[in-house]
Amino acid sequence: MINVLDHGFVRLVDSMGSDLSIVRAARVSHDADWRAGNDTGSDARLIRYLWTHKHTTPFEAVEFQFEVKAPIFVLRQWHRHRTHSYNEVSARYTELPEEVYMPDPRMVGRQSKSNRQARDLEEGDVERAAVMVTAMRKNAGAAFSLYHWLLKEGMPRELARSVLPQGVYSRMFDKVDLRNLFHFIDLRGDPHAQYEIRVYADALLKLIEPIVPVAVAAFQECR
Ligand SMILES: Cc1cc2nc3c(=O)[nH]c(=O)nc-3n(C[C@H](O)[C@H](O)[C@H](O)COP(=O)(O)OP(=O)(O)OC[C@H]3O[C@@H](n4cnc5c(N)ncnc54)[C@H](O)[C@@H]3O)c2cc1C
Repeated sequence: MINVLDHGFVRLVDSMGSDLSIVRAARVSHDADWRAGNDTGSDARLIRYLWTHKHTTPFEAVEFQFEVKAPIFVLRQWHRHRTHSYNEVSARYTELPEEVYMPDPRMVGRQSKSNRQARDLEEGDVERAAVMVTAMRKNAGAAFSLYHWLLKEGMPRELARSVLPQGVYSRMFDKVDLRNLFHFIDLRGDPHAQYEIRVYADALLKLIEPIVPVAVAAFQECR
């Protein structure tokens, strides 16, 4: 398990396959699938060749299931990736715990002038950011007080949750094959992606590296 942000984490729950599964899936095309594994040097070269030349289906032979705890605004970006299978905690079934993401003031920066989606860390004033984060914490506390009061008054959970901020943590299972996981890490680990999802992409790569070290090395080379 790797801790991410102030209350989040990523945990590898399950996996199927290894570098060998990729080689086997590729070698079946010339009826040599069961020869795979006899020569690790040529297997490694094959994996590198496949990834560099975008022969990506063999990478779908490997699958992972992760447990992810992240702020809702991070999960909202994550769920745009349609090739994953998700199951998430339902705030209709359960009361949400009082855990809200509070950015580290050093990672706040200022709204970027050149990129309308991004932040400019160099321009930021850390002391000013700390004041703003304190205000965010106060706002989250007030939102949770209202949430608890609404629940006590008998409002259904599915409605009461609407007063909570987007920084509230949620938890999900994410099942994905290696090909689409690399695609996710490529997009969400990129410097153009938001810092708060980038740190999750980096954690995913660390978790899978011991299982598919050769594929990860090929992916890193091509990035
Ligand atoms: C830095 C960044 C900024 C973004 N900003 C915005 C934004 O402002 N607004 C916004 O709405 N989104 C935004 N997105 C989300 C982005 O548009 C994609 O929805 C998201 O990255 C998922 O990518 P994907 O479709 O390639 O991934 P997946 O859904 O996992 O799909 C993987 C691949 O499968 C194929 N595929 C999947 N579904 C289809 C389909 N229906 N038809 C054909 N091929 C398919 C495609 O080749 C696709 O690349 C942003 C993403 C990033 C990384």
